[in-house]
Amino acid sequence: MSELAKLTIHTAHQKLKKKEISATELTTAVLDHIEKTEPQINAFISICRDQAMAQAKQADSIIFKEKNFPILTGIPIAPKDIYLTKGILTTCASHILHNFVPPYNATVIEKCLAQNAVIVGKTNLDEFAMGSSTETSYFKNTKNPWDLSRIPGGSSGGSAAAVSADQCLASLGTDTGGSIRQPASLCSVVGLKPTYGRVSRYGTMAFASSLDQMGPLTKDVTDCAHMMNVISGHDEKDSTSIKTPVPDFTKTLNQNIKKLRIGVPKEFFTQAIATDVKQCVNTALKQLEGLGAELIDISLPNTEYAVATYYIIAPAEASANLARYDGVRFGLREQANTLQELYSKTKASGFGAEVKRRILIGTFVLSSGYYDAYYGKAQKTRTIIRNDFTEVFKNVDVIAGPVSPTTAFKLGEKINDPLQMYLSDILTLSTNLAGLPGMSVPCGFGDGNLPVGLQLIGKAFDEETLIRVAHCYEQATKWHLKKPKITT
Ligand code: GLN
Repeated sequence: MSELAKLTIHTAHQKLKKKEISATELTTAVLDHIEKTEPQINAFISICRDQAMAQAKQADSIIFKEKNFPILTGIPIAPKDIYLTKGILTTCASHILHNFVPPYNATVIEKCLAQNAVIVGKTNLDEFAMGSSTETSYFKNTKNPWDLSRIPGGSSGGSAAAVSADQCLASLGTDTGGSIRQPASLCSVVGLKPTYGRVSRYGTMAFASSLDQMGPLTKDVTDCAHMMNVISGHDEKDSTSIKTPVPDFTKTLNQNIKKLRIGVPKEFFTQAIATDVKQCVNTALKQLEGLGAELIDISLPNTEYAVATYYIIAPAEASANLARYDGVRFGLREQANTLQELYSKTKASGFGAEVKRRILIGTFVLSSGYYDAYYGKAQKTRTIIRNDFTEVFKNVDVIAGPVSPTTAFKLGEKINDPLQMYLSDILTLSTNLAGLPGMSVPCGFGDGNLPVGLQLIGKAFDEETLIRVAHCYEQATKWHLKKPKITT
């Protein structure tokens, strides 16, 4: 394979600056590599060769003229197919949107394009981001580049697989209950879910609006910091994005973590967590201690309620958000004689089983008579879970533990057992319920040479500390340099 596809954003940027390579060469190398590896990986729903080459050419004309240009100029990225991209098919991995070409861009996409980034394609996901394995996609199953018989995680599984297999330099994912961190962990890439409100949600397909947050998946922590600089900030088109200053996230790179207090929650190390995962994470914690951090035993006592709470609140919000897909304005439209028939036939054939399950659960928990018993209670529990974090953060700067209870499981292993699938989210959901930032950074390999991620959870709007710890750890261990072997 061409060495160019292996580059990170920051190394490619240096080479573009020194005119050692052109954006056209870089984009060609990435597209050729996608072509070779896609039959094995299946990470993409769309590949945009023509548009990408045109964007690369435009980037080259800027690079030719200017000495200093933005970090993403000429950089091939691949957003999850949940981000609206003007003129490019955007399906959310659903049959109901199989033909939808948006008339505008998501804010985050606009920000990348304003820097002349190159969009090489749109990555696969669980249908409407509902799932933990990318198997609920209407289109295809994405394979984990580390073991093609296994899932890449989800819902941003296409994104994580593509970054890990060098099919793009970076990706953009979304995280409602773990969908950036868990696939990042299972594919050995860096994933950051920012604080709720840090990044605009405008123009991304809404799943659960009070939980959804957009963020990067990258090959290393430095790239993560750069991506955060590009995508963060208030957006008047998203009323939940917060007007708070955006720091330069690259400033925290290379800072040490001496005396930093790292909380280790005992609930993240129970019997439900696989031994190989615990071993990797425990070793990582020791290494952090060796780098000068102080480990503090903590408790997040209501962690066990996160799954039940999330799987009421997220479906409730989803049932409202998905009402718009009715065959009238966009997407699939079934033949029908009455409006009622149009709705029911379109939804019946347009949505997959998991999405229908969520809509049914969501509608049920919001229905009169059950609202207080389910939705109302879940909201109260959400507050209790958030309060656990508030308490703990009085004494620690950051929380560390595993991301996923196991390494990547086999394709087909859990797809017919929704409860087992939901339980695999146990360590990521509470972060979303509390609105806090969370990150996954590669921390080694468990049984069968399968990747394990270290999760870092921070105080609201303190992504800087996550990046600082992650970078310090990454530089000391270099796990990010290990690559899957893909035979083409
Ligand atoms: N796995 C969780 C779910 O199925 C989270 C998905 C996500 O973060 N988008 O809802």
